[in-house]
Amino acid sequence: MRFCVVGAGFSGAIIARHLSEKGYRVLLIDERSHLAGNCHTERDAKTGIMLHRYGPHIFHTSNLRAWKYVNRFGDFEPYVNRVKAVSGGRVYTLPINLLTINQFFGKTFSPREAYDFIRTKADQKIFDPDNFEDQALSMIGPELYHAFFYGYTRKQWGMDPRELPASILKRLPLRFNYDDNYFSHTYQGMPKDGYTSIIERILEIPNVEIRIGTRFEDVEEKFIHVFYTGPLDRYFGFKFGRLGYRTLDFERIEGEGDYQGAAVINYCDEQIPYTRISEHKHFAPWEADQFSKTVCFREYSRLCGEEDIPYYPIRLAKETELLECYVAHARNVRGVSFLGRLGTYRYLDMDVTIAEALSACDRIDEIFSAGGTLPAFFIK
Ligand SMILES: Cc1cc2nc3c(=O)[nH]c(=O)nc-3n(C[C@H](O)[C@H](O)[C@H](O)COP(=O)(O)OP(=O)(O)OC[C@H]3O[C@@H](n4cnc5c(N)ncnc54)[C@H](O)[C@@H]3O)c2cc1C
Repeated sequence: MRFCVVGAGFSGAIIARHLSEKGYRVLLIDERSHLAGNCHTERDAKTGIMLHRYGPHIFHTSNLRAWKYVNRFGDFEPYVNRVKAVSGGRVYTLPINLLTINQFFGKTFSPREAYDFIRTKADQKIFDPDNFEDQALSMIGPELYHAFFYGYTRKQWGMDPRELPASILKRLPLRFNYDDNYFSHTYQGMPKDGYTSIIERILEIPNVEIRIGTRFEDVEEKFIHVFYTGPLDRYFGFKFGRLGYRTLDFERIEGEGDYQGAAVINYCDEQIPYTRISEHKHFAPWEADQFSKTVCFREYSRLCGEEDIPYYPIRLAKETELLECYVAHARNVRGVSFLGRLGTYRYLDMDVTIAEALSACDRIDEIFSAGGTLPAFFIK
């Protein structure tokens, strides 16, 4: 008998490689026609530009183990994510920094002046914000909130920001200097040959049969154990109901030269139906000049239907309650472990996904050497 790994994204590929290195036989399956899951990149057939098929993916981390791991399987080019935002017919820079504040309010503030000014805008009466809107108002005040977050958030989540938890905004930086690097992690970059090449190289190993275009539901073989990185609710046939997700629609735009002069521009106004436009040749600035044509994608967010690709878990009270039912049920089922963004119903960046998969490998080794049973989840 062999092991089965369901899903050939980062989570599944790392587990499959580890099992192979330990001398086990593995069947790795994915229902898609390609490897790399949601991080999949491919050359556009018409232009040759490297496309991120499921939306822009930028690698950023302070986790040295995850960074070293990906660098074993591909070369990374330096890449800093500098996002622009259109609001009220004008272009600004994100995350909100000194330039955004000075441009928006028509000022020439120093860092200290900007800090004091934003303090006068911030709603001092809100002590313990329990929703997204109150959190924003207590941090940046009404003008910046309405310009950059209100409409964008309504489009992205399809609901009023007062219905969303404050925790979403806690993660967004507010800077009183001119640093417009979207992330503040130590290591940032873009793989020279794309993410799919990294996953292919992770999987250049013996003892692993890779079957793409195959649904787990259609495999009849019996396995020692299944590592499942697909949706948790789907594994159980949605028996308690469906965990809610947002999905994305991408509308392709083709053109000559440079369409927007930046990789990502957010559209913050509610009346513009899309959330952002990404121009993919700017994700590979080292080769962008080679292409006379360009390809961009307008991104639209909506509630995920049964046939759609689940992107962002909603995780409000209703979903959390349902998740608890599935988690409790999964803990009583033998022979399967759930991992990754879909298996644990969380939004995970790639570095977190990789770090969690590597810790799962450590745990697998400990359990195998102690003769124990593999758990339903490797996270708490
Ligand atoms: C729009 C968007 C943008 C993102 N941008 C970034 C970014 O800039 N930086 C960053 O670090 N992270 C980003 N991420 C997060 C990144 O996509 C995830 O960290 C990563 O994809 C998680 O890998 P995974 O292996 O857990 O899941 P996935 O990559 O989703 O892999 C799961 C695989 O399982 C397969 N599968 C599921 N069910 C079955 C089944 N029953 N049978 C067979 N196959 C099945 C699926 O086809 C899929 O290929 C972004 C995510 C989204 C949604």
